[in-house]
Amino acid sequence: MQRREFCKSAVIGGALATLPAPLMRAFAADPAPAAGAELQAVTLSGKPTLIPAAAVKEFGANLRGTLLTASDADYDHVRRLWNKMIDRRPALIARCSGAADIAHAVSFARERELLVAVRGGGHSFPGYSMCEGGLLIDLSTMHGVRVDPVARTAQVAGGAWLGDLDWEAQQFGLATTLGQISNTGVAGLTLGGGYGWLARRHGLACDNLVSADLVTADGKLRHVSKTENPDLFWAIRGGGGNFGVVSSFEYRLHEVGPKVLAGDLVYAPAQTRDALEYHAHFAASAPRELSADFSWGGAEGEDGDLTLSVCYVGDLKVGEKVLQPLRAGVKTRADTIHAQDYLAVQRQFDGPPLSSRNSYLKGGYVADVTPALIDALMNEVKPNAFLSIILEHCGGAISDVAPTATALAHRSEQYQLLMAASWTDAADNDVNRAKIHAAWDKVSKFTSGFYVNLNSPDQKAVDDNYGPNRARLVALKKEYDPANLFRLNANIRPA
Ligand SMILES: Cc1cc2nc3c(=O)[nH]c(=O)nc-3n(C[C@H](O)[C@H](O)[C@H](O)COP(=O)(O)OP(=O)(O)OC[C@H]3O[C@@H](n4cnc5c(N)ncnc54)[C@H](O)[C@@H]3O)c2cc1C
Repeated sequence: MQRREFCKSAVIGGALATLPAPLMRAFAADPAPAAGAELQAVTLSGKPTLIPAAAVKEFGANLRGTLLTASDADYDHVRRLWNKMIDRRPALIARCSGAADIAHAVSFARERELLVAVRGGGHSFPGYSMCEGGLLIDLSTMHGVRVDPVARTAQVAGGAWLGDLDWEAQQFGLATTLGQISNTGVAGLTLGGGYGWLARRHGLACDNLVSADLVTADGKLRHVSKTENPDLFWAIRGGGGNFGVVSSFEYRLHEVGPKVLAGDLVYAPAQTRDALEYHAHFAASAPRELSADFSWGGAEGEDGDLTLSVCYVGDLKVGEKVLQPLRAGVKTRADTIHAQDYLAVQRQFDGPPLSSRNSYLKGGYVADVTPALIDALMNEVKPNAFLSIILEHCGGAISDVAPTATALAHRSEQYQLLMAASWTDAADNDVNRAKIHAAWDKVSKFTSGFYVNLNSPDQKAVDDNYGPNRARLVALKKEYDPANLFRLNANIRPA
């Protein structure tokens, strides 16, 4: 699958979501089940439970946002995630309007031991942000952003998309590291790490977090920063949604653009090996302003083409000089690198918010692009119209941060290797997942650990992946979420 097919997603609300909350309530169907009836739901332990109609009604009345059940007209639209493969039916969807709603929803779930999912942008590949039978705490209508151009910071609501922050910050020539699809949610991306064009220059999204407002499992709203609740601040930078629901993030911003040098170098199949080898050599001493990601295979008609997508975020004249040897080093089929708006670069791979395709992905960190890895990719995996490979450039400022300085321990690796595919027919899900696993098995020996936002392996692999930070994370989980209310993530089990 080509990068373009990773088209963004994030779940936007139905038309009602654009109305003020009181009107939304007036127009929305009554969320409560019929008088006297009970709502069927699922507990944390997976057991069925019944919620009295009066309790559902009272919960709905305590929200400024709306509460949906399966009987509501927009329920099926609202429960969709970007990945069409995820088809789950929560018993209740609390469409939160702010921290107070989130706190009510967390308390409602904790008191009834309900299974909980939390959704920001809804882009989770494995579908962590949707549950079957439980309560979905839905932040997807919370998109507010406020930039302080003097302090160079931005306050960003927990359901905002990357594009919301990019747009507001670029009005002042500012930006921070975010991902490469503008309608991905800032929340899931930042809490798991956050890789993008600015990461080699300015660190990951989580490295640019100044503070956050976090609703913990006890229903309390806590401000977390280097000086307030520093343990929790440490834990949410790479520990995903394990420690609570973030209603608002504060990011550090940097001068970026508005023009950056970006585009693609496309290589014909005959040049694949030369291009990979040349780039591996070039990248070893590339300046931090430059990020260059390979994508290979995936799209109909482009079988075998290797594309190097680059972005240089610095002085444009210097960038031209930096890129010159890369552009001349190996014969290209196409070279589209030119000065363009940073905002356009951030949107270049976007697709519809809800993908019409079933998507699956495996990934892992690799120390470097070695000749042995190139051999395995070219001779054993052989990317094709079905299967695409991405080599994402890491290193630079990402590696300045010590492995134990934040919960995200993977700091020294120079690349992430991703293997992905997407298809339309759900009947092909099992066979296609198996194909991706078989291909992945041929290269997994070159990888060490994985990005928690992309994979959903078994619990042992998740535990190992937190590496030197695991014991501290488990202790914090025990302290702040002893019942493991927030478990739909790369889970840190309290026991
Ligand atoms: C097309 C596509 C492109 C991508 N590109 C990139 C990329 O360039 N760089 C990169 O680093 N990653 C990328 N990713 C991966 C991305 O980081 C994750 O999918 C991330 O989870 C998306 O965040 P979200 O808010 O949309 O996730 P959601 O699906 O809403 O949630 C994902 C996880 O975060 C938790 N969560 C969500 N919101 C909150 C909140 N407010 N508080 C607490 N927990 C919360 C959820 O419970 C869940 O466990 C991409 C994914 C896709 C599908």
